[in-house]
Amino acid sequence: MPFTTEEREKILEALKQKGVPEQCPVCKQGELRVSNYIAFVPVRERHVEVGGNAELDMVPVGDLPCIIVVCLNCGNTLMFSLSRLGLWDEFVGELEAAWGRRR
Ligand SMILES: [Zn+2]
Repeated sequence: MPFTTEEREKILEALKQKGVPEQCPVCKQGELRVSNYIAFVPVRERHVEVGGNAELDMVPVGDLPCIIVVCLNCGNTLMFSLSRLGLWDEFVGELEAAWGRRR
């Protein structure tokens, strides 16, 4: 489901408050547009086994929900953490409550 007008306004306001420019910082021509999707970026943590054979492994620890912003000219794609934007509860909190888990 695409973001509602109200949700989109909240996202744009949060990005503005954090100082995110409206124009692409790479090509300096294109408008940055908020997509209708939330990316769940898989994140891992280093795990070191100490013992006979030292082993370094990357252990999955979850997914980081992010707003996706795309330049309409060059396609530069930026992702902003919902948590850092203060939008976690708005977009993820209800889902996690429904799934019975919480970060
Ligand atoms: Zn661009």
